[in-house]
Amino acid sequence: MSQTYEGNCFCGAVELTVTGEPVAAGFCHCSSCRSWAAAPVNAFTLWKPEAVKITKGEGNVGVYHKTERSYRKFCKICGGHLLTDHPLWGLVDVYAATIPTYRHEPKLHVNYQETVLRIKDGLPKMRDMPKEMGGSGETLPEEDPVDTAGRAALRNRGRAKVEA
Ligand SMILES: [Zn+2]
Ligand SMILES: [Zn+2]
Repeated sequence: MSQTYEGNCFCGAVELTVTGEPVAAGFCHCSSCRSWAAAPVNAFTLWKPEAVKITKGEGNVGVYHKTERSYRKFCKICGGHLLTDHPLWGLVDVYAATIPTYRHEPKLHVNYQETVLRIKDGLPKMRDMPKEMGGSGETLPEEDPVDTAGRAALRNRGRAKVEA
């Protein structure tokens, strides 16, 4: 039988569960995640929608979508973030921090071209997204040795990116 893990928002008004294992887990460095979360990276776990259930306080769940890719959900009482629906991918990102009872086992970093916090952990650093999610599938080095004068920022200026 699949195991179920519990999570909740910052104040506890909203509770949720995830069941089984995620499709993918890692860290997203995109500017949308950064801006919405007010944090340098987002630790994500991606689940099939049927694996995720709001078990308490559904009426307190607010939703905001800037694009059709990401419907970002939060607790209307405390403002704490819960999850993001990605309808085009058929997946739900339940933030690792929202489900502390589930061990976060990151496998990759995505949108690393937008990073403001380089992380040396030996995991693959995707430039944008994996091919199967509409990205280039390219990987980048963990560290850019010529990045001292912001050359990476210049190099990436005007480069296509997927706003989420
Ligand atoms: Zn709350
Ligand atoms: Zn992101």
